[in-house]
Amino acid sequence: MKTARLVESLPTSYIREILQAATAADCLSLAGGLPDPKYFPLDATAEALQLVADSPSVHGHLFQYASTRGYQPLIDHLQTQLSVGAGHELLMTNGSQQGIDLAVRTYLNQGDEVALEVPAYLGALQVFALAGVRVRPIPQLPNGPDLEALRKVFETGRCKMFYTVPDFHNPTGCCWSLEVRTEVARLCRKHGVLLLEDAPYRDIRFHGENLPLVSDFCSDVAIVLSSFSKTAMPGLRLGAVVAGKKLLAPMLRVKQAVDLHTNTLGQFLLAEFLVKGNYVAHIANLCRNYHAKYEALHAALELHTAEFGFHRPVQGGMFIWFVLHELDATLVAQRCLERGLAVVPGGVFFPAGEKHSINALRLNFSYLAISQLEEAAARLAAVLRELSAC
Ligand code: PMP
Repeated sequence: MKTARLVESLPTSYIREILQAATAADCLSLAGGLPDPKYFPLDATAEALQLVADSPSVHGHLFQYASTRGYQPLIDHLQTQLSVGAGHELLMTNGSQQGIDLAVRTYLNQGDEVALEVPAYLGALQVFALAGVRVRPIPQLPNGPDLEALRKVFETGRCKMFYTVPDFHNPTGCCWSLEVRTEVARLCRKHGVLLLEDAPYRDIRFHGENLPLVSDFCSDVAIVLSSFSKTAMPGLRLGAVVAGKKLLAPMLRVKQAVDLHTNTLGQFLLAEFLVKGNYVAHIANLCRNYHAKYEALHAALELHTAEFGFHRPVQGGMFIWFVLHELDATLVAQRCLERGLAVVPGGVFFPAGEKHSINALRLNFSYLAISQLEEAAARLAAVLRELSAC
């Protein structure tokens, strides 16, 4: 059976292929974007499941059809936790990935233009490809998008949406400065461009000052996507969309058409953890541990690989973007796999057919233990030495 035209244009996830190859027993993987399962709130989850098992009749409503917006006790809690402003509302989704999809389905037609920073989050590129929308790439600079390039794209009047990850970007780890945030907000308002602010890594900050959301400066034209995949557990598949009532209402209608509502038992488990567990302490612990892992990989790269490339220090998130001086990133990634190390070559983070001069590797530091991160850096250095000797 022939698939639909837009499905044919869907980029295959090269990362999934690398992750498959990385399942070999002796392979160390810096390739995925996996949180460390050591910090999953399993005790709180087990207690919540026990509550359901102990009194199934009281909890029967968790297994009934429910409202599209989400499980009300969770929503009530998140209104405060996410500081949802007056006139704004919340919609629970299957991860922030569904938030991207719902925003695109609700606000873009086939052929419409969406701007995004490149390199870009692969999952968003896939949503845009499937929706048949046109991508306008904006180069990313150390403090955020190239504002001049963004202004030019906005001035064409054809761009309807700007998809962004301002806090600890995937794949680069870039965090926008305050100046960039206010200027992007100003430009979005001036040109009537919808800002889709994807913030799954926002709470994972190791140091530096917490900056406002870009949307705080343009909330009338902004949609914010939160996720509990990095801060709780990705298998729960839970995220939240926050937007003004007028922007959110059509997204609710679309969500209803797509899947009626998000799994209620999962939302109950998250609510129990957030309400009864000590979320603040949980995040502090997670950040402390990811910080230590980041410092370990950062130091090991400085020690072993400095002559072959460089990376900018990051203040949070889960990724280091290692830019190679000369060697070809795709070749390096291939040879790494043969030597028991999985890394992602930077080219996969560009829209299909988009020319780019970036020669970099995305390195994840959240998943492996510190000793494994050090070993991974040593394996990478060995591959870089081997290739540069050729
Ligand atoms: N946005 C970005 C920038 C991501 O990196 C990811 C996950 N890797 C997602 C969205 C999707 O996250 P979720 O598990 O919440 O759907």
